[in-house]
Amino acid sequence: MLNLLRKPTVGPLDLDEGLAALGLDGTQHVIVHASLKSFGTLEGGARTVVDTLLARTATLVAPSFTYNTLMNTPTERPRGTFHRDSRVSRDIGRVPQEMVERADAERSFHPALSFVAIGTQAAVITGAQSLESPYQPIGALYDLDGYALLLGVDFGSNTTLHYAEHLAGVPALTRYVPLEGRAQPTAFPNCSADFDNLLPAMHGRERAVTVGQAQLRLYRVRELVDRAVSLLNREPEALLCQYRYCRCQQVRELIRSGGLHPREHHALTRR
Ligand SMILES: [Zn+2]
Repeated sequence: MLNLLRKPTVGPLDLDEGLAALGLDGTQHVIVHASLKSFGTLEGGARTVVDTLLARTATLVAPSFTYNTLMNTPTERPRGTFHRDSRVSRDIGRVPQEMVERADAERSFHPALSFVAIGTQAAVITGAQSLESPYQPIGALYDLDGYALLLGVDFGSNTTLHYAEHLAGVPALTRYVPLEGRAQPTAFPNCSADFDNLLPAMHGRERAVTVGQAQLRLYRVRELVDRAVSLLNREPEALLCQYRYCRCQQVRELIRSGGLHPREHHALTRR
């Protein structure tokens, strides 16, 4: 009876086999979004995910957002300060926190929307960010022909789509973050709750494998961005959620009154 209740345990070798089946061979630059509990029981948890992924990627990237520094107005007091080792917000997950704790990780400067990266292009990717374009590390991955890896999560966690919204010209909201001793404005996007609306446009473009109880999906960042931009060109509100009290409704109003204002993709300067 006990055996029936016991969940299968996923070990590092199972995960490594799955990543190999996706075609990850240590040469790719990959942004990861993971739900540890989606595996069932994963031996070693976040440590296993990070160790295994580092061996299968050239650069490993993740959002390491810290929402306690985010302010609606410049006069609001932030609930926290940001530094290199600030704890990643709980809903962003354990894997980015595990990466932040590694001494060789680069973390970008943004007090609320930082990215963490480890590997050959880590400095280039994290260095691409600005207050005006917080998702520009995804732009760097676009140039590096990188991949987005979803470990047991849906497109609601697929941060790459925010860069597509930026390029398509979806209006950004303004929020404030404490930086260099004062509150500074930063672009801030709509929520990602309905990003699965891009799924039909990505049909058949993923590589997928199941490990334990988790579905692992790998997408090219370029395809995600290009297809999301073309979806938004056809249907500018396609990725906004319907929840009445969400900031998505402010973005919707801005689209209805002013339309989209496409932004250029700023390619990485060659070094
Ligand atoms: Zn929303």
